[in-house]
Amino acid sequence: MRKIEHLGIAVKDIEQANETYSKLLGVKPYKQEAVESEGVKTSFFMLGESKIELLEATNADSAIAKYIEKRGEGIHHIAIDVEDIQAERQRLIDEGFQPIGDIKEGADNKLICFFHPKSTNGVLTELCQERP
Ligand code: ZN
Repeated sequence: MRKIEHLGIAVKDIEQANETYSKLLGVKPYKQEAVESEGVKTSFFMLGESKIELLEATNADSAIAKYIEKRGEGIHHIAIDVEDIQAERQRLIDEGFQPIGDIKEGADNKLICFFHPKSTNGVLTELCQERP
């Protein structure tokens, strides 16, 4: 575990949120990317070495759509940068944390996996590793 890589924020309208966050942070998103497999559009803002990821659902089955329906817009997950995602995922499983699905390809050239908020005091936790 090296650092917090980004915070993910669930939004209803990513164009509107891009404008709001550009004003808030004083920078434009450096990347916008759709992740078909997750049913999301994303955009990334860089602040020093920290990032903020905005996520909008592209279909009603997307986890982001369900999240917003239940809880409204807001912080959706915290992502931690790891050197070896296989090893860290296994370490957390061995510690009793509850994985959601397998390691997969995420936005921003990352391999990602998630751990259930039930096992992390209510915070959906993502591990991410830069793709080689
Ligand atoms: Zn993320």
